[in-house]
Parts: sequence; C-alpha cells; structure tokens
Amino acid sequence: MKSYRKELWFEVPTRRAFINITQEVNACLRESGIKEGLGLVNAMHITASVFINDDESGLHQDYERWLEHLAPHEPVSQYKHNRTGEDNADAHLKRQIMGREVVVAITEGRLDLGAWERIFYGEFDGRRKKRVLVKIIGE
Ligand code: ZN
Repeated sequence: MKSYRKELWFEVPTRRAFINITQEVNACLRESGIKEGLGLVNAMHITASVFINDDESGLHQDYERWLEHLAPHEPVSQYKHNRTGEDNADAHLKRQIMGREVVVAITEGRLDLGAWERIFYGEFDGRRKKRVLVKIIGE
C-alpha cells in the first residue's frame, strides 16, 4: 500500500471565506501516483472546515447568511469562550456545523466525486496562516 501526505497552506485576508480546493487536492492525487484508494482532506484548525458542495456563489452567500444567523460574530461578549480574550467563539461553532474533513474515493487515478461535488476550505477566523492536511492511501 502507498501512502501520501501533504499540507496545503492558506492565509485568507478576510475573517471568513470559502475556497474551492478541488484542483489542489487533484494535484496531490497526481503527485501521489495512487490509482485506487481513499483520500482524506481535513482542516488542521478548530476554526476552519473542509466540506464538499456546489461551487455556486449564491449558495456560498446563503451559507454565510445561515451561519451568521446561527452563530453571529457580534456581539462577541455573548460567548463564554470569548472571555478567554479571544473573539472567535462564532468561528468554532461555524466550523462544527460545516465539518472538519471529507473522505473521497480514488478510482482509476481520479477523485471519484459526483457531478457537482467540489471540495472547499471554509475559513471562519482568517487573516493568519492555516493548514489543510491531505492524506491519500491506496495502490
Ligand atoms: Zn477560540
């Protein structure tokens, strides 16, 4: 069995963003040389997500509005976590909803995604460097 590991780095200039990372993950798959197996992609930070959905800007605005409704950033004083001196309690909650990782089947050397499935990095507390782990195992 082959095993491949790579860290993708992001420094999002805004507090929140959704970034399509499907091509970066595809590049990892090509580099791995693995044809059949499984690929794991996970955020290595507790205020960021990796998820799969449609690359459609209206949907991303809907996510932003929905997440802000569920866990508004302001007022930051509403969250006990922010008593630590941080202001990112909402980002921890948003990350929990959008998820930590995805697992994608690798078939015939390709990411075996549905027609409209794309892999996204979800940033909820940006403006600093963060990592995403790509781990691919198989033959
Ligand atoms: Zn925090």
